[in-house]
Amino acid sequence: MIPYARQDINADDIEAVAEILRGDWITQGPVVPAFEEAVAGNCAARFGVAVNSATSALHIACLALEVGPGDVVWTSPNTFVASANCALYCGAEVDFVDIDPDTLCLSPEALRHKLELVRSKGERLPKVVIPVHFGGQSCQMAEISLLAAEYGFRIIEDASHAIGGRYQGEPVGSCKHSDIVVFSFHPAKIVTSGEGGMAVTNDAVLAKRMALLRSHGITRDPQEMVRPADGPWSYQQISLGFNYRLTDIHAALGLSQMKRLAHFVERRNQLADAYDKAFSGFSIRSQRVPVDVLSARHLYVVRVPVERHALVFGELRAAGIGVNLHYIPVHLQPWYQRMGFSAGQFPEAEAYYAEAISLPMYASLGADQQKFVIETLIGLVQ
Ligand SMILES: *Cc1c(COP(=O)(O)O)cnc(C)c1O
Repeated sequence: MIPYARQDINADDIEAVAEILRGDWITQGPVVPAFEEAVAGNCAARFGVAVNSATSALHIACLALEVGPGDVVWTSPNTFVASANCALYCGAEVDFVDIDPDTLCLSPEALRHKLELVRSKGERLPKVVIPVHFGGQSCQMAEISLLAAEYGFRIIEDASHAIGGRYQGEPVGSCKHSDIVVFSFHPAKIVTSGEGGMAVTNDAVLAKRMALLRSHGITRDPQEMVRPADGPWSYQQISLGFNYRLTDIHAALGLSQMKRLAHFVERRNQLADAYDKAFSGFSIRSQRVPVDVLSARHLYVVRVPVERHALVFGELRAAGIGVNLHYIPVHLQPWYQRMGFSAGQFPEAEAYYAEAISLPMYASLGADQQKFVIETLIGLVQ
């Protein structure tokens, strides 16, 4: 089976992990801060807070922005459930903004429209909006951040797919148009640490809050303590945090992988270009990448005619091609339907879902394998 995604592990990665296992610290050692510096440095952000998943990063990012009961967080329905669940963990409510049918990312026009409507009705405006850089391509962040200034919400970019991507000449993660940017290092993503995530920010206060929340809300820094230290053994819990720490074992893998980030993104773009070229002229639509965006190409998704969708999907799997589907719109999940969401509310995300297939996309996908995928798919839609 050719999978839809696959990690790329080389001998250096293996040696980096083995070295940690032979060393003094397997968690809370020096490699986690080195990994944080590598990622934050790569995307030109001031601070990186490494955690055990992007899900954890989204949770502490929401808490750092003081999302809580009575607040509403908006995100895209075309995402993994974690982009929305993070608000529920904080006791807030979730709502969605439909996608642009060409870029498949949260539509700035739909966002403006919804903000105007909510304001005109005197309803609650969002405290935080979480745009999702679907497939590895940045949302139109300049437009979204103008709306943030006008309507007074904060922004967390869910860049789980997008490390190594660029928007308007800046690396994704620069936080130029947002408060916090979150990355995932799950093995299906561009760079992996096994499991892992990171929140990057330019705001020292947010970075400090997230670092505390990652580890029980405990500080050992006398400057942060709320009363004088009892002694040199002292630590104080000053907020209610979690154990969301990343280990040095995971960080070593992530740090080693970061050296190949540019190569991964380049190779993924070559594969995407080859797919684009092969499918032009057939009834196979892909994701439009705006001219000011360099996609990291986490996913290569196509839309096939809705009446053949299930058949094409099944035949690809039967041919040994491990296609997948990103995403079932979050508001259609039973958990969200129980909260009152229903089919028909976000028609662009639903129309896309009815036609979507994620094709194999990873750095080590071979030219022959890709040719087989292309020929099989074209044979099925003709
Ligand atoms: C993978 C993913 C997450 C969650 O990442 P984990 O590191 O697995 O917690 C969140 N949002 C999006 C868009 C993702 O694709």
